[in-house]
This record gives sequence, structure tokens and C-alpha cells, in this order.
Amino acid sequence: MPQSESEAKENLDDVGLLLKTLRFAADKHKRQRRKDKEQTPYINHPIEVAERIWNTGNHKDVKVICAALLHDTVEDTDTSFAEIEELFGGQIAALVKEVTDDKSQPKAVRKQNQINHAPHLSLGAKHIKLGDKTSNVKDISASPPPDWSHERRAEYLAWTEKVVATIVGTNKAMEDDYFATLARAKKALEDKQVHE
Ligand code: NDP
Ligand code: ZN
Repeated sequence: MPQSESEAKENLDDVGLLLKTLRFAADKHKRQRRKDKEQTPYINHPIEVAERIWNTGNHKDVKVICAALLHDTVEDTDTSFAEIEELFGGQIAALVKEVTDDKSQPKAVRKQNQINHAPHLSLGAKHIKLGDKTSNVKDISASPPPDWSHERRAEYLAWTEKVVATIVGTNKAMEDDYFATLARAKKALEDKQVHE
């Protein structure tokens, strides 16, 4: 279908916004690594979450993609919501806020809050949750934190399942992908235990 001039302009603006977001997130996470043995650059994770939403979920909302790229910046770096709002606007800042844990709370409370709050998130934020949990569950089997015991890995998988259970109905393709990834991770964990 031919694009109107304004649609084409909007698409170009979207690419500009996306690149600006990626540059910002990569810079903020530049000293951070994932917890795997290879200490993968942290930015690989938000990129994966964003890509899952766009390609697996077919959820073509560029603001949600930008918020996915930024989803761990406030939680894990010196970034503030005000900074995100100033650079990327109120909608993206609001999405990032929805998926940011309250770090003043103890870990156990934060974990329970995610389960309690997930069903009340906006549609965009639910997509970020689905992509985030799928990425982390995949990492638990493909590139896990080496110092995590079998029990801790299993507890982590079980917790993600509780969060995702509250938002089933958001995006079938992403949910199918999450549950397939979870099944593979559980199987890998069982196999590992048998062979140890
Ligand atoms: P953390 O919150 O410390 O770590 C998990 C988070 O680390 C993920 O959500 C992800 O967050 C990030 N991450 C970075 N690299 C990886 C990677 N390679 N693989 C997976 N995640 C990665 O863990 P928890 O405190 O949640 O611990 C997991 C479970 O274990 C909990 O249920 C807790 O109760 C339990 N526990 C058990 C202990 C034990 O010894 N048995 C001790 C402590 C906790 P992000 O999306 O932000 O990147
Ligand atoms: Zn994350």
C-alpha cells in the first residue's frame, strides 16, 4: 500500500526516536553486565525485549519499543524519570515507570508487588513484562548466573510464572513463546540435576 507523505515522515521520525533511545540506553548501561559467566553487555537484554515485542508479538507501537529499550535504566542506572520525560516525552516515561520496581522496598515485597500490580498495567507495559520475563527465563537456561543454585534458578522460574499468569490474554504469540521458553528452561534444569 503506498504511504502518504505524512506517514512516510512519521516513519522516519520513528527511526530517529528509536536510534536516540538506543543510544541513550546503551550509554546508561555501558558499565553494566548481565549476570552470566561471559558477563554479556547489559544492553543486549533490553534490545532483546524490544525485538520480542515487535517481531514475536507483532505489537507495532514505537513508544512501547522505546520504553522496552529503557525499561531497566531507572532501576539499574542513575537515570531519572524526569530525564526520560524531558528527552522522550510523557508517554514513554509513564510506560517506564509502570515497569520499574520501587527500590526502596525489600526484595521480597518487590517480587510480590510485581505479581499484584501486573494485571493493572497498561497494554504496552504488559507487553514489556512478557518480553522481559521471556528474556530472563531464556537466560536462566542459556546463560545463567553461574553462582545460582538449582533451587534459586527453579524459584526464579516459578516466580516469573506467577507474574505472567496474571497477564495471560495480552498477546498470544508472546505468551506461547514465554511458556515454550519456560518449558525448555525447566527441562534443562531437571536434566542438569540428573547429570550432576
Ligand atoms: P535477582 O533479582 O537478584 O536476579 C534476577 C534478575 O537479574 C532478573 O530478573 C534479571 O533482571 C537480572 N539478570 C541479569 N542477568 C541475568 C541472567 N543471566 N539470567 C537471569 N536474570 C538475569 O534474583 P532474585 O532475587 O529474584 O532471585 C531469584 C529467586 O531466588 C527469588 O525467588 C528469591 O526468592 C530466590 N532466592 C534464593 C536464594 C537461595 O539461595 N536459594 C537466595 C536469594 C534469592 P532484569 O530484567 O532487571 O535484567
Ligand atoms: Zn529487564
